Amino acid sequence: MVQQKRCEGCGGLGTFWTERWVEVVCENCHGKGKTIDAGGHQVNCTVCVGMGYRLIRRSDIKPCPYCLGRGYLEIREPKRVE
Ligand SMILES: [Zn+2]
Ligand SMILES: [Zn+2]
Repeated sequence: MVQQKRCEGCGGLGTFWTERWVEVVCENCHGKGKTIDAGGHQVNCTVCVGMGYRLIRRSDIKPCPYCLGRGYLEIREPKRVE
């Protein structure tokens, strides 16, 4: 007999949220970290503060590795030997 049990890894949703930080090249200075101001001087980019990139948070939805996206687990009950 096969029983269905709610997956505890994903709470029965079948999906997992993962969050990670990714580096994105600054679009204001194109990764240089510097911009030219109106007077022709090199100044630190105001968007990335001279870093050349920004960190943004990305969320991904992945199928749960425990239940393979089904949201439940199948539990096979051992046959009773009488
Ligand atoms: Zn799951
Ligand atoms: Zn920048």
